[in-house]
Amino acid sequence: MTAQALAEPHFSSLQGEANYWAARRHYPAQAIVDLAAIRDNMRHLVDVVNREGGATAVMGVVKADAYGHGLIPTALAALAGGATWLGTAQAREALLLRRAGIGPDRARILTWVNNPLEAPYRELIDADIDLSVATTTALEHIAAAAREAGRPAHVHIKVDTGFGRNGFTFENLHEATGSLVALRDEGVLDIVGQWSHLAVADAPSNADFVEQTEAQIARFEEFTARLADAGIEPRIRHLANTAATLSRPQIHYDLVRPGVGLYGYEADPDMGSPERYGLKPAMTLQAQLSSVKDVDAHSGLSYGRIYLTEDRTSVAIVPVGYADGIHRSASGADTLGALGERGRTMPGGPVRVMTKDGPRLMRVSGRVCMDQFIIDLHGMADDLGVSIGDTVALFGPGRGERYCEPTADDWARAADTISYEIFTCLRNRIPRLYEHATDVLDADDLSRLDPASIL
Ligand SMILES: *Cc1c(COP(=O)(O)O)cnc(C)c1O
Repeated sequence: MTAQALAEPHFSSLQGEANYWAARRHYPAQAIVDLAAIRDNMRHLVDVVNREGGATAVMGVVKADAYGHGLIPTALAALAGGATWLGTAQAREALLLRRAGIGPDRARILTWVNNPLEAPYRELIDADIDLSVATTTALEHIAAAAREAGRPAHVHIKVDTGFGRNGFTFENLHEATGSLVALRDEGVLDIVGQWSHLAVADAPSNADFVEQTEAQIARFEEFTARLADAGIEPRIRHLANTAATLSRPQIHYDLVRPGVGLYGYEADPDMGSPERYGLKPAMTLQAQLSSVKDVDAHSGLSYGRIYLTEDRTSVAIVPVGYADGIHRSASGADTLGALGERGRTMPGGPVRVMTKDGPRLMRVSGRVCMDQFIIDLHGMADDLGVSIGDTVALFGPGRGERYCEPTADDWARAADTISYEIFTCLRNRIPRLYEHATDVLDADDLSRLDPASIL
């Protein structure tokens, strides 16, 4: 390993350090999640919504294994940062949170994606988990489960304000109000909330997006008025995702639901850098080079030969591929390669490589394979001081150009997707290791983590 290899993570103990080296022996790549960053991002979001002395609560959205960061550690760090709600898509994830010991006194939990005919409503009601209701079918099944449980189901009425996905339309709601009122009066339903979801992130430069959001807000208010006319007054209302939490104080209502912001990213990089919003990307994805060698000019790299080296150069293998969730669409084609013949280059996903002259940005060169990809070092490894076993970073907290440190947004650009997909796609062949866990969590909460994951 070269002297200037990437800095090692912060260890809380000798055991933490041992865990790190054990993970490196077993996995060629590691995702290091900074729980202090997650806590601080949540603190910041809590601060943002309460700036004007309001009393808005914050839900940490931890669906999809906390956007790939790990459900339980992330949820606990979000609570440490002041979240009082947690949100999951699937019922199973909500139940896992309760099973991990996060009781109703610590966090209300809302879950919203299921097949209403088979969803474990009884179990969810028993576990004191709030349910989204968006169809009359769900309403009937929730009511049946609540009767069986002998306690009211806490529900949030989801309304479709223009997303076109889940939620009652005006017409559906009109048909459902009779049952809603009857079930509430019977004591089967506790109508906690009215909620909806926004379709476009507020890129302030995009007038059409801003207008769409305005239209959704107007419909949301109209739903409130219609519910009130029917005698239904939910205790809380919520609409804001990360983008609206950061940029639209007028729709914070009683609760906001940031997801991507908790992980340190903006919904739309057009909004500006995470730093500008007081956020810090929590995940660093790193790997150790499994091979470094010299090749001739005009050597084809990887499947399909879409990348040919320009000069004699060194190439290195990064041992992660699409089976680990590295997007194949982040492959890199060179002007000399097949795509180049059509006059097009395609910059591959960025990788930070430490050379003896400091960090340099290299890129995926050729197609991403199942378990690995190649980077052209654009120079000789000996001169650059790059060797087998060196740690490289695919993305990290994004400390700016001076550090040559890519973010998940940079990978999203290379793969033609969004940061959300970059981290949710990372599979279980990449261990999640937690930095600053002992600073953020108390002994009780620490005991809820896999001990081998604590650095
Ligand atoms: C995912 C999700 C969120 C969080 O959205 P972000 O853009 O990640 O902040 C909020 N509400 C609902 C219903 C969601 O599905």
